[in-house]
Amino acid sequence: MQVLYSRNVQTVQCNRCELRYPKKESECPHCKDLSDSEVKTLKLETEREADAHSDVGKVMLGAAIIMMLVVALLFVLL
Ligand SMILES: [Zn+2]
Repeated sequence: MQVLYSRNVQTVQCNRCELRYPKKESECPHCKDLSDSEVKTLKLETEREADAHSDVGKVMLGAAIIMMLVVALLFVLL
């Protein structure tokens, strides 16, 4: 029963830091100890993290395109 319960934990989005936390918590564990300016920093950091991930995707796509061009060039040369 314990496992079933923890698997179905409902989460809510915090109005302050926009992160999700379990509904049973009365306060958001991410920002309850933070000041307003610290919450702003936290939000900026999570946004930057998301941007970094999308950059990795672009780099991977770029690398894949270069690899395909190299392979195509090899076929032309051989
Ligand atoms: Zn929060």
